[in-house]
Amino acid sequence: MADLVVTLNAGSSSVKFALFAADAEWPRLMVSGAVEGLGARPRFRVEIVDGKASERKLDATLGHGQAIAEIFNWVEDSYPAATVSAIGHRVVHGGLRYSAPVIIDAETLAELKALIPLAPLHQPHNIAGIEGACEAFPHVPQVACFDTAFHRGHAFVDDAYALPYSYYEQGLRRFGFHGLSYEYISRRLRIIDPIHAEGGVIVAHLGNGASLCALKGGRSIATTMGFSALEGLPMGTRCGEIDPGLLLYLLHSEGMTPSELSHLLYERSGLLGLSGVSHDMRVLEASKEPRAAAAIAYFIHRIKMEIAALTAVIGGLDALVFTAGIGERSTRIRAGVVDGLGWLGLALDKTANARHESLISAPQSRIPVFVTPTDEEAMIARHTIEAAGLSVAAR
Ligand code: ADP
Repeated sequence: MADLVVTLNAGSSSVKFALFAADAEWPRLMVSGAVEGLGARPRFRVEIVDGKASERKLDATLGHGQAIAEIFNWVEDSYPAATVSAIGHRVVHGGLRYSAPVIIDAETLAELKALIPLAPLHQPHNIAGIEGACEAFPHVPQVACFDTAFHRGHAFVDDAYALPYSYYEQGLRRFGFHGLSYEYISRRLRIIDPIHAEGGVIVAHLGNGASLCALKGGRSIATTMGFSALEGLPMGTRCGEIDPGLLLYLLHSEGMTPSELSHLLYERSGLLGLSGVSHDMRVLEASKEPRAAAAIAYFIHRIKMEIAALTAVIGGLDALVFTAGIGERSTRIRAGVVDGLGWLGLALDKTANARHESLISAPQSRIPVFVTPTDEEAMIARHTIEAAGLSVAAR
């Protein structure tokens, strides 16, 4: 049987996993699944490609470590004859050092732990995933794949905040996130439209977390998320662009504590905060509440603004790509953005948009607009295969 590669994406309330066979140029998905509802009502869900999907409840006291053990027990029980040859981990922050995936050893793990203050809500869970996997498979290579890596190498003007220069040197920079998704889309676009893929492309990754990335020659030039995953677009519950003076006001004049402020900005803002209805775009689109419509209008407004800004950064736009939950499925958001950018030469094909086709721009559109599903797990698997030297080409 082919080498198996497991990918793990450990978050605050879920641990997602996927199983790939490393028997082709691009990893072949066999199983995807997750332990979800950690801390509340945990359940184990698996979906076998061309096979059965199943779900079962787990003990309510289950923690992250046990969730990871549950996943690896399932893999070993389900594929007793197979060898897990490498495990790939999604790691949110690679700091200044990591601009590519890396095989994890004790030194790397220590460095990833040192980056926890830069991503306190995500990095600890990613590290728990690595430690759990190392315990289950101590002799199997573990590969860290970073959300920040694809954005390393930005020009100073796209990387810096206008604070005293010593802060830049200290590493307080615009790191950017969603890098695995952007890298995957960049590679896909080379197949879908190789000519435009070499030019100036903006990718709109619109999910619960949302950001834009400007590419040139397939490489990231600039992105809307910065030092943290709060900057840029408004998101499900995160605020996006905000005046730092407002934060000072909340701290000094309203007496907010840092942890209250963090909760406000990460959990109570964005689409949820504006609408008072939900963080979920499907619920907002179905709602008759005026504030739900206002939240949607705000979301579209900010996307248009940031696309215009990024277009200036890359000196013109050759293609626009929508991806992630909202980008792949919301006819209304895509129409709002594309219709609002008519001045830039974009024109929508309404029927293609309603059908979520791969190309949704009209024939007369100066710039093609694509809907391209992202696949961060496949990107992690591919990096893991390469880093662990399992690639078909490497043999
Ligand atoms: P995450 O950042 O958690 O990975 P996803 O990429 O799964 O998020 O995107 C989740 C978002 O996609 C939610 O706001 C959800 O409402 C939205 N979404 C999913 N399906 C649709 C749909 N058919 N129409 C509009 N929005 C959708």
